[in-house]
Order: sequence, then C-alpha cells, then structure tokens
Amino acid sequence: MTGVNTGTDTNWFSARIIDWQRRYGRHGMPWQDTRDAYRVWLSEIMLQQTQVATALVYYPRFLARFPTLADLAAAPLEDVLALWSGMGYYSRARHLHACARAVMARFDGHFPTTAAQLQALSGIGRSTAAAIAVFCHGERAAILDGNVRRVLTRVFGIADDLSNAANERALWLRAEALLPRRDLERAMPAYTQGLMDLGATVCTRRNPTCAVCPLAGRCLAARNGHPECYPVKTRRAERRALAVWLLHATDEHERVWLTPRPARGIWARLYCLPEYGTRAELLAALAAPTRAHAVFRAPIAHALTHRDLSLHVVSVRLTSNNRLDGDSEGRWHAPSAWPALGLPAPIRRFLQAQAP
Ligand code: SF4
Repeated sequence: MTGVNTGTDTNWFSARIIDWQRRYGRHGMPWQDTRDAYRVWLSEIMLQQTQVATALVYYPRFLARFPTLADLAAAPLEDVLALWSGMGYYSRARHLHACARAVMARFDGHFPTTAAQLQALSGIGRSTAAAIAVFCHGERAAILDGNVRRVLTRVFGIADDLSNAANERALWLRAEALLPRRDLERAMPAYTQGLMDLGATVCTRRNPTCAVCPLAGRCLAARNGHPECYPVKTRRAERRALAVWLLHATDEHERVWLTPRPARGIWARLYCLPEYGTRAELLAALAAPTRAHAVFRAPIAHALTHRDLSLHVVSVRLTSNNRLDGDSEGRWHAPSAWPALGLPAPIRRFLQAQAP
C-alpha cells in the first residue's frame, strides 16, 4: 500500500466530502439531528445490514415500542426479536438487547461517550462505535464500513487485498489521516455522514456515477476506468448449501405449531416450524394416518450470509389436543398471534401465504 498522507495534503478530501454532504447528502432522516446516543446507536445498528428504506419503517416502530434504553433493557428478548422480524441478521437484535442491559447495569443507563469505550459493548464494532461518538460528540474517529472502504480504495487506487490484516490496518490509518482537523463538532458529523452517503448513493458497488462525484477529479479508479475492480478481497467465505426439513402442522382452528429455535445457530431464539435433519426423520415423527396425508411443498430457496438454504416444508393436519412428540417448548399459535412473534422472514411469508 502507498504511504499515508497527513496534514493539509488530505484537507481537499474532507473539504469536498463536507461540501458535497451539505448540498447533496441525505438530510431529514429521523435519526439525524439528534445527539441522543440511544437513537443514534439504534439507527447505526439497523443500518449496518439494512437498506435505508427498510430502516425508515422499522426505526419509528421500534422507538414507539421502546422509547428509551430502559424500556428496551426491561423487555423480554422475545419482544425485541419479534419487532426485528423481517430485517434479518438477528444477531443484531440479540446484541442490541444485551447491550441495552449492559449500559443500564454498568453505566447507569448512559452510553459511554468515547469510541474506545463504546467498542467494548456488545454488538458495537469499531466503525459503529466511531459513528456514535462522531454523531453524538464530534469525536475525531474514523469509520470504515463497506461504503467507505469502497470510496477510499477507489479514490486512492488501493488494490491491496483487504483480507490481509496488514492491508486492512493500513486502510484504517489512511481513513484516520483523512479526517477533518478543525471545527470537529460540526465537521466530523457532516464528513462521516457524507462518506456514508457518497458510498451508498454515488460510489455504488456497480455502476458508480463518477460524473456527479465530488472526488472524480482526483480519483485514481475513475481515471483508470475500472472503479468496480475496487476494493480487492480475495478470501471469500465459502457458501454452503443446506437442506432444511420443516413440519407445518395446523389444527382445526387453523393454528400452527411453532417452536422456539435453539439459542445458537441459524435463526437463534426465533419461532419457527419444527425442524428435522432429514425427510425420513420428519416422516418418522408422524403417525401413519397423518403421514399418509402429508403435503410436500415446493422447496423455498433462501440465502443467508454464508448459506444457501433450501426449505422443504411438509404440511400436515393434526387436532388441537395433539402435541408434537419431543417438543416441550412448542405450542399452537393462531394467525392473530403471528405478528407479535419473532419469525424468520421466509417462514413468515410462507405462513402468510397459507393463512385462511
Ligand atoms: S469518482 Fe467514481 S469511483 Fe471515484 S469515488 Fe467518485 S464515484 Fe467512486
């Protein structure tokens, strides 16, 4: 990686980002214009792996149910997962809940103020900690999420493999060297928001719109004509295909048997149709007359971060006095109860499609 510039040589970068953000960046989002760490933290966690359009729906809904950190900490995890349902990456909701409880217990309900302290909390990584410290306190701290990584590697033509830890560290140093140096209270939030916005709306993964980019004149990737080649990351997590067998049991009241998932693994702690390792295991759990009328649904494809799931749902009719053998935690749930349950998105969609 080329050397990291410091001092006035980097001022052009932050100045252009700040100017662009003020004129063309995203304004008026419900999580902007506040220094309330609870609100900023919540929005940063949501926006990690969720599109702004989706966060705009979930964020107010979440705040209506949990107006304060204390409300969130006092709620059962089940309620938090239920409200998160549909946004995916549920570990965020579990960390959110754990973090709220930790801040109540260890910091008397007040988030710590520095990025270094924030980073020690559950579910808050280096970039998120920096974003909270910037937006709440104007700290001079760098973020390096996917959007910023893309902008920096393109502008500076950094073709080093970022799966290498030394290259990753060097990029963090670069990000820190580029930070504004004056008027931090005002400059840092505008700069940080600007970098996020530019990466999300202009310097996009495919087809970046260099013609309207404030950095175009000094961007090496735009100059060499191949911005989409950046960033370079050679080590990719292997995707694995996984077949999942699920029993969709309904009773005469159209209720569905749902059971909480284990605390670890895919969809941890969410409610789901009972899962079996194989088709044979699922069928073995059914009495012969039930098995004879089982309906095998077309497999549902669902992609997770490192897995391609193939959901094989088998529908059967039971009576309400039946319980599923070996499932002590599961029970019947009427359609009216589903909205309040934390359900994996494909299971929710499936149930809604079957609803009477
Ligand atoms: S000029 Fe193009 S490639 Fe370079 S930062 Fe701007 S949008 Fe990205």
